[in-house]
Amino acid sequence: MKIELICTGSELLNGTINTNAGFIGSKLCSIGQELCLITEVSDKKEDLKKVFNSAISRSNVIIITGGLGPTFDDITVESVSECLNIPVYNDERVLENIKKYFLKRGKVFPEVNKKQANIIKSAKILENRFGTAPGQMLHFDFKDNDKSVRKTLFLLPGPPREMQGIFNDNVEPFLKSYSVGIRKCACIGVFGLAESEIEELIKPVIDEARFGYDSAVDFGILANDSFVKIKFSVSGRDEIFIDEIINKLKSGFSNILKDNIFGFEDDTLASVVGRLLIAKKKTISLAESCTGGKIASAITDIPGSSLYLKSAMVVYSNESKIKLLGVKEDTISNFGAVSEQTAKEMAEAVLRLSNTDYALSVTGIAGPGGAKKDKPVGLVYIGLSSKRRTEIFKFVFSGQREQIRRYAVNTSLDLLRRRLTKLGVLDRSSDRN
Ligand code: AMP
Ligand code: MG
Repeated sequence: MKIELICTGSELLNGTINTNAGFIGSKLCSIGQELCLITEVSDKKEDLKKVFNSAISRSNVIIITGGLGPTFDDITVESVSECLNIPVYNDERVLENIKKYFLKRGKVFPEVNKKQANIIKSAKILENRFGTAPGQMLHFDFKDNDKSVRKTLFLLPGPPREMQGIFNDNVEPFLKSYSVGIRKCACIGVFGLAESEIEELIKPVIDEARFGYDSAVDFGILANDSFVKIKFSVSGRDEIFIDEIINKLKSGFSNILKDNIFGFEDDTLASVVGRLLIAKKKTISLAESCTGGKIASAITDIPGSSLYLKSAMVVYSNESKIKLLGVKEDTISNFGAVSEQTAKEMAEAVLRLSNTDYALSVTGIAGPGGAKKDKPVGLVYIGLSSKRRTEIFKFVFSGQREQIRRYAVNTSLDLLRRRLTKLGVLDRSSDRN
């Protein structure tokens, strides 16, 4: 069965992230189905009609998101009606519900919203629990040469929460009933190895899986700045067998990649570090210079981080490093703000001032300016201090300012992760592209 998604909205073509596509794609994967095509199209009727006409000629199920609103640019219902040559009517019950929706919120019903009760004749109305425009499901016959083929169309609202509600209540159960098997997805997060190195290392495991199992196994390697995600999915009919293969693959990858694996599925370096700190009942403080608070931001993105993050200081100027943290003036004048010695004093000072078990410090040159003789753009020192010892790590990251800062954040979190798991530390002082 071919399932195709059309996301309408001129804003999607101007840089707004299409989260509806991500949601629908991953939902379908979890029920053993997949999208064969995703198209983003403007709110112009002629564009949508062109895209819709080609979609109905090649796919069995077409899902359209967006364009069910009340304004002039919401043209999905009329475009589809014109393409299929099926009339639209204004549904009284839907209109009553929309009026009630406004009344309940103490608002006057705007006449323009009447349009949201426009339903394609013979479509099933799909209740919208989070907004005014209902979804619609329509079965129609498409003439393919001499044959008539039955196709299904879903119209869903654009706002993600509304779309997700209708998708979960109606689209998912419908498509699930057509699934012939199960597909499960898994993800492994790797830090400290380049994409090409990983590919080379895991090739034997992938080859064995591809040739050894009856079930279909799909692999993908995605590099994202300093970390890499290995994604794979296994399809088949026997769930126990699928789980077995997933576990086998995970342990195959773990045996090869060892401590370079930081986590699984949705884990991030910050969430893994958080779990380790909680498990070991340890606390952390931060002194950030070139990362400008980004490590603190990553850590506090995780709910419950107040259990382990005590304080985070952004000491961007030399003056603040000296006055707030107590870094020695001599250290900065003799060795520079971006130096092993400054990183060490920053980490030890914030550890002492915050009275934490661990402290991280970062000082570096994020660029584009600021390079000096022997100190190139990308030079970053990371200090990791505990009551027992302080270690300083030197890196030269490549890339633009934002990339260098992200490398610095992720590398700092990874150094802490490795210290917490007592797996040893990175043994290279190098660019880890
Ligand atoms: P619409 O139903 O087309 O009027 O869309 C209403 C709002 O929903 C838009 O302004 C967007 O903010 C949001 N939206 C629509 N389509 C998407 C999408 N594919 N991904 C994320 N947000 C969307
Ligand atoms: Mg729209």
